[in-house]
Amino acid sequence: MSSARTARPVTSPDGTPPGASLYPHLLAPLDLGHVSLRNRVLMGSMHTGLEERGDWDRVAAYYAERAAGGAGLIITGGMAPNAEGGVFPGAAGLYTEDDIANHRKVTQAVHDAGGRIAMQILHAGRYAYGKDCVSSSAIKSPISPFVPRELDEDGIEKQIADFATCAQRAREAGYDGVEVMGSEGYFINQFLALHVNRREDRWGGSYENRMRLPVEVMKRVRAAVGDDFIIVYRISLLDLVPNGQSWDEVLRLARAMEEAGASILNTGIGWHEARIPTIATSVPRAAFSWVTKKLMGQVGIPLITSNRINTPDVAESLLAEGCADMVSMARPFLADAEFVKKAAEGRAEEITPCIGCNQACLDHTFMGKISSCLVNPRACHETELNYTPAAQAKTVAVVGAGPAGLMAALVAAERGHKVTLYERDGQIGGQLNMARVIPGKEEFHGLVEWFETMVARAGIDLHLNTEATAEALEGFDEVIIATGVLPRDPQIPGQDGANVVNYVDVLKGGAMVGSRVAVLGAGGIGFDVSEYLTHQGESPTLHLDHWLREWGVTDPEAAPGGLAKPEPPKPARAITLLQRKAERPGKRLGKTTGWIHRASLTARDVRMMGGVSYEAITPDGIMLSTDQGPQMLAVDTVVLCTGQEPMRALADALQEAGRPVHVIGGADVAAELDAKRAIDQGARLAASL
Ligand code: NAP
Ligand code: SF4
Repeated sequence: MSSARTARPVTSPDGTPPGASLYPHLLAPLDLGHVSLRNRVLMGSMHTGLEERGDWDRVAAYYAERAAGGAGLIITGGMAPNAEGGVFPGAAGLYTEDDIANHRKVTQAVHDAGGRIAMQILHAGRYAYGKDCVSSSAIKSPISPFVPRELDEDGIEKQIADFATCAQRAREAGYDGVEVMGSEGYFINQFLALHVNRREDRWGGSYENRMRLPVEVMKRVRAAVGDDFIIVYRISLLDLVPNGQSWDEVLRLARAMEEAGASILNTGIGWHEARIPTIATSVPRAAFSWVTKKLMGQVGIPLITSNRINTPDVAESLLAEGCADMVSMARPFLADAEFVKKAAEGRAEEITPCIGCNQACLDHTFMGKISSCLVNPRACHETELNYTPAAQAKTVAVVGAGPAGLMAALVAAERGHKVTLYERDGQIGGQLNMARVIPGKEEFHGLVEWFETMVARAGIDLHLNTEATAEALEGFDEVIIATGVLPRDPQIPGQDGANVVNYVDVLKGGAMVGSRVAVLGAGGIGFDVSEYLTHQGESPTLHLDHWLREWGVTDPEAAPGGLAKPEPPKPARAITLLQRKAERPGKRLGKTTGWIHRASLTARDVRMMGGVSYEAITPDGIMLSTDQGPQMLAVDTVVLCTGQEPMRALADALQEAGRPVHVIGGADVAAELDAKRAIDQGARLAASL
C-alpha cells in the first residue's frame, strides 16, 4: 500500500536517498555490457493467469506497477515456445505472429514506467498437462497423468528451432531479453538428468550428450537475437530428485552455457516433483543461497540467487556475503509492487511482506484461477481494485483488529477516512497471533509487525483492550464489524474434563498438554496444533542446518541432485490427529502446501485417522467409533480443533436496533475462513466506502 499519509522522509539530510547507504549492494547497478540494470533486484517469473484470459491490458498494468516500483529486471511468467510445450492446453505463449501485438502492450507499459522486462520461455516437457506432451524419454512424471512422447531427431530439432523463433519474436515484441527455463524439472532439465533421460543416441547417455540440448538451445537463441539482448539461463543447481545432476555436471553446464551465449545464470532449485519444499513458508529464508555461492567465481557472467528471499535486508546480506551478483524475488513483488522503491527510500518496514503461504499465488495458478496475493489483494487486479481518495471523508469505526479489520482500517485510512479501530485484546493481529507461534510459520510475525507499523503511520485511532459497545459506535458514518470467530463447541460427552483443552488454550493460553495427545479436527488448525505439539527446541525454519537434515538435503558435491536420507527429529509428543470425514486427513489443505504439512507430521510419527466418531472423552482418553468397531484411544490430553463459529453478538445487536453495519471476515462467514478471504473482503469493502 502506498499513500501520501503513510510516506516517510525519502532523503537523508545530505540529500541522498537513505536506502543507498542501507542497501549499497542491492541498489548498485549491474553492467551487462550493452545495457546496465538499475539495481540487483530481479523480479522472478510468476504465472498470473491473466494471459490465458486474453486480458493483456491487465497484464501490462500489473507489470508496469512493478517497473514503477523499482525492480531492476522483470521476468514474465513462463511463455510456451510452441503448443506442445505449454503447461496446459491453451497456456499462454509466444508462438504466433498475433501474440506479438499482445506482448508489445506489456513491454511498452513497462518501458514507459522506466523498467526493463525479459520474457521467460518455458517448455514444460512431460509436465505439460496434455496428451501431446513430449520429453527426452517416454517416462511419466508422478505429478502428471500423461506419458510424454519420446522425441526423435526431427522432433528435437523442432523444439530447438521453436525456442530460437520464440526468442526472436520476444525481441520483436520489445522485450529486453528472455529467460530460458532450464530448471525445476521442465523440458530442458528432463534432458539433463538421468532421472528422465534414458536415451542412447547423441542426446542421452554421457553428460556431454545430455547437455547437448540446452547448449544447442542457447547457441541458437543467441544467434537469433544478436548480441545486444539479455539471455538469462535458469540453471538447476540442485535437482532434489533421484538420479539428479552431480555438481561436476552442473559446473560443466554452467561454463558451457556461458560459452554458448548466456548473459546471466539464474538459480533453480528442485524439480516440481521433488518431495522437499523449496519455497513454502516453512523453508528457512534464503535456504539455498549457499548453492549459488558454490558457483560464484566458476563462471564469468553474473549469477542470481533465489528462493525464500523476502526482505531487502536478507537480499543485501546475500550480496554482501558474495552469494550472488543479483537476487531474485518473485512472490515479494506480488505482495508489494514498491519493494525496491520503499527500500531505496529508507521505508523497508512499510514493505508488505510476502509470508510464503502460496495461498493466493501458486495455489490459484494450480486451480486455474487468476493469481493474487494474500497480503495484497490488488496484485493482478490493478485495473479493478484501487484505493482512490474518497469523495467525502467519513468517520469509520472498525471493531476487531484481526486481518479483516486491519485491512479494512488501512484501506479506509489510505483513502482519507478518519478511522477508529477497537480491539478487545491487548495486541492487534487476531488469529495471526496464533499462526505466528507455529514452528514454520514465523513469517506471520513480520505480517503482524507490518500491520502495527502501518496502523501507526496511517494515523488510525487504535483502542486496544477495548470492547466496543453499541453506544461507543454511535455517531460514526460507517461501522465495520470484524469481531472474528469463536472455537466451535463439538458437544462431545466428557469434553468438560480437565484433560480437554481447545486450540486457543494451547496456542495462546499455554495450556499444559501431556505426552500422548488426541487432536480432534484435521483442518488447518488441527494440523498447525499437531505441528506445534510435536516440536521441541528452536524451529528448524530458523535453523538452516537442522532443516536441511530434516528434509534430506545435502551438498550436491556429496550426492547427485543434493539428496540425502531425511533425518527428522524425535517428536516431542505422540499425537493422533482425528477427523470424522472418511477422507485422507489434510486433503483440503493448500493445493501446493498440503503435502508439506502431511509429510512433516508423518515424519514426526503423527498418526492420522479419518472416518471416526467421537463417542465420549474420559479421564483415560477418548472412545471412538470406527469402521472396525469401538476403539479406546488412551491419551493424556484431548485438544479440540473442531472448527469455528462467527462471533456476531455485536453485529446482531446493532442490526436488530436498525443500525446499518458492514460485517466482514470470520464474523461474517466462519466456514473455510482464512486470512486470504478476510484481507480481501476488508480491502474491497473499504475501497467502496
Ligand atoms: P476447518 O478447516 O473447518 O476444520 C475444522 C475441523 O473440525 C475439520 O477437520 C472438521 O472435520 C472438524 N469438525 C467440524 N465440525 C465439527 C464438530 N461439530 N465436531 C467435531 N469435529 C468437527 O477449520 P479450522 O481447522 O478451524 O481452520 C479454520 C480456518 O483457518 C481454516 O479454514 C483454514 O483455512 C485457516 N487456517 C489455515 C491454515 C493454513 O495453513 N492455510 C492453517 C490454520 C488455519 P470433520 O467434520 O470431518 O471432523
Ligand atoms: Fe507471498 Fe502468500 Fe502473497 Fe503468495 S499469496 S505472494 S506466498 S504472501
